[in-house]
Amino acid sequence: MCGRFAPSPTGRMHLGNAYSALLSWLSARSQGGGWLLRIEDIDSQRSRAEYADQIKDDLRWLGLEWDGECRQSDRGPLYEEALGHLTGLYHCRCTRADLLATQAPHETDGRVVYAGTCRHKGYPDGALRIAVPRADILYTDLHYGPQRVNLTTHCGDFILRRRDGAWAYQLAVVVDDALTGVSEVVRGRDLLLSAAQQIFLHRALGYTPPQYGHLPLLINAAGQRLSKRDRSLDLGALRQRYTAPRLIGLICHLAGLLPHPEALTAEEAITLFDWKKLPADDIVVAG
Ligand SMILES: [Zn+2]
Repeated sequence: MCGRFAPSPTGRMHLGNAYSALLSWLSARSQGGGWLLRIEDIDSQRSRAEYADQIKDDLRWLGLEWDGECRQSDRGPLYEEALGHLTGLYHCRCTRADLLATQAPHETDGRVVYAGTCRHKGYPDGALRIAVPRADILYTDLHYGPQRVNLTTHCGDFILRRRDGAWAYQLAVVVDDALTGVSEVVRGRDLLLSAAQQIFLHRALGYTPPQYGHLPLLINAAGQRLSKRDRSLDLGALRQRYTAPRLIGLICHLAGLLPHPEALTAEEAITLFDWKKLPADDIVVAG
């Protein structure tokens, strides 16, 4: 089997990224599997090569060795080729205002569910969308168990390539996971439902979807997800306060793998990994 870590090089890694990286690495290594690093730099406006270098330096410091790496900015031709294998693609010229105007009143949790407005317009250009099936997508998450998602009500026909030509995350992540042999995806639970979009695309492209395992999020005392704004929790600050074994021990403790935060290396933590030990609820990190 093979796992992966796929950071966006838009800033320094923080505790939440280190936690995702470590848990993904432990899951893969505890099965004797490989682990790949993918730099998700398709957002050329926000991505910086120096951040990618810093991420690699932080992973090495943590002791998380990887077996191969790639970056999405090199892989456009593969995404282009994948498009040629998909059916149900069409161009959409809706503006953000158009999209919000067609929202049903109850769908106000921040997601924009596309109503399919342009599906039969036959526009020659615009954002490229794929028509989603009406049937539910069923899958079993390694941590959260059975999931059932209807893409029509979850997101509607979604974007594969933006109007400006930029590749959308959903297409890139599916093509990359499939072509690099990733069989297990471990990441934060904010992406739990988007796995349904990815499973749909994997199948539409003739691939076998990977197994998904989503992690409880690290949150602060106010219940907000840890982010790059919490500067005291970025790896630059953490590397001044902790040795790598103490930070690995702290993360293992937060994840429920260790009763107390004792120092140990990533290698030594491999035998501790067990999905059943992870908490069901998000994990509060004291500032
Ligand atoms: Zn449209």
